[in-house]
Amino acid sequence: MLSYRHSFHAGNHADVLKHITQMLIIKKLKIKAKPAVYIDTHSGAGLYELQGLEAQKTKEFLTGITAMQAYQSEQQYIAEYQQLTHDFIENNQYPGSPLIAANMLREQDKIVCMELHNTEIDNLRHNLADFGSLAKVGVHHRDGYEGLLAILPPIPARGLVLIDPSYEVADEYQQVVMTLAKAIKKWSVGIFAIWYPLLSSRAGQKAGLSEKMISEIAALDCKSVLNVAMHVTENEGDAGMYGSGLIIVNAPWQLDTDLENVLPELVAHLGGDDAHGKAYVEWLKKPD
Ligand code: SAM
Repeated sequence: MLSYRHSFHAGNHADVLKHITQMLIIKKLKIKAKPAVYIDTHSGAGLYELQGLEAQKTKEFLTGITAMQAYQSEQQYIAEYQQLTHDFIENNQYPGSPLIAANMLREQDKIVCMELHNTEIDNLRHNLADFGSLAKVGVHHRDGYEGLLAILPPIPARGLVLIDPSYEVADEYQQVVMTLAKAIKKWSVGIFAIWYPLLSSRAGQKAGLSEKMISEIAALDCKSVLNVAMHVTENEGDAGMYGSGLIIVNAPWQLDTDLENVLPELVAHLGGDDAHGKAYVEWLKKPD
């Protein structure tokens, strides 16, 4: 049974880091005119109402996208993210990863979105309907792990897979590693970005599972592994999710530099006032 709903968390600090990283990778794919594919294994609803009951219950967006919209950045990539999200925020909405991709990709590109939740898939179809004229938007009501392996290697053969699970059960961390190992075998040149939470001991048995998953991904048979992470508070017992990050397999050239350029500003606006905010980019496996 799937109980996670992203509407409680949409636009929080983790979404900001994830979606800026996603944007930076898609920008790299667009440098060449050749078609690219974007695959989202855990798509969510695609669009979230910030005045809705769920978002209003947690108000997580206030220390995420609201903080990012409160000023005009002079950093090019952050300014582009502010611009892309601006009209949504004006309507009290926040775009999820499928809509961010759909807004950025070109006629020649392709999008495949998978979602397993019975209600979220309907929301996703509705929210992607405006992009229906792009014959190349595919929405699949299926398990993202099974679905990913079924469609690899994709056509076109260059692109990004975003794996953004809700990690509702502890076993899911292992499922990510096992699926990724098979996916890389089927598509060795694909870019894979895997989101993960950083959890304090309050998370019980899930605390430390992201760190274990990261080291297992770094040991996979692939060309390179980049890690980007942001802590927004101290890792103390009751901090809950004190930060988040993404592991990027086959990161495009200079993604590390682009991330280094945006992270200080993200920490300055999202890192809280307790002086524990920090962010870093590190190669766990450097490309040759
Ligand atoms: N990627 C979205 C974004 O950034 O806007 C957020 C996705 S949310 C963290 C995770 C989503 O995965 C939820 O909507 C959940 O219903 C869905 N989900 C959970 N298990 C799944 C599975 N095995 N396959 C596909 N979707 C799944």
